[in-house]
Amino acid sequence: MDAAPPSVPAPSPLLVLFDCDGTLVDSQHMIVAAMTSAHALNGIALPSRERLLSVVGLSLNEAFLSLSGGATGYPVAAMAEAYRDAYLALRERAPMEPLFPDAREVIAALRARPEVTLGIVTGKARRGVDRLLAAHDMEGWFATIQTADDAPSKPHPAMVQQALRAVGALPEETVVVGDTTYDVLMALQAGASALGVTWGYHKAEDLRLAGAHRLVDAFSAVPGALAAITAARAASGTP
Ligand SMILES: [Mg+2]
Repeated sequence: MDAAPPSVPAPSPLLVLFDCDGTLVDSQHMIVAAMTSAHALNGIALPSRERLLSVVGLSLNEAFLSLSGGATGYPVAAMAEAYRDAYLALRERAPMEPLFPDAREVIAALRARPEVTLGIVTGKARRGVDRLLAAHDMEGWFATIQTADDAPSKPHPAMVQQALRAVGALPEETVVVGDTTYDVLMALQAGASALGVTWGYHKAEDLRLAGAHRLVDAFSAVPGALAAITAARAASGTP
């Protein structure tokens, strides 16, 4: 008599929270152009391109606070407003920021897996995210979208915590995928795992030092890295 077939355990639930700028979309040309415009309008010397891109991922006020270097009288609010206006004006004329290679295919495949839930955690405004998803025909792909409109800037963990509440997930089932140390620190502070991507705006070494559990150099490597993080977490028994 045949033995009963071994029962295959259902895959554990997995919530994957993606950052936008530098992770899903390559927005550096528009960001640098809008930064250039904001600095010119306010008569402030333009920092290096590397410095400008290092603050991408923070909410706008925090980004300009960081760029101010603590200088007294730096017009944070005026810079943020000028940047926002310039970015919106550029969007009227420029084509939408492109997705990074294979992003769409990989996310579509993740989305098709029953145990996987997808979300977005971004320093962008909600309006910008909605426009981006519509332009790339990805509306409805993400179960929860957390933006700078409803939470403190990264690396505060609120966006991740709100996403967990929104979909009923646990931190130990959650991986944040992002290109900056702000994403990594936000994930760790929320008790989630962090997958760093090296095609964005912070250096791989900085992501590693911040505590990223894995790093990937291409979108096609994301599913394997997610599986490795999940397996390591299950093996260690520690969330
Ligand atoms: Mg980013």
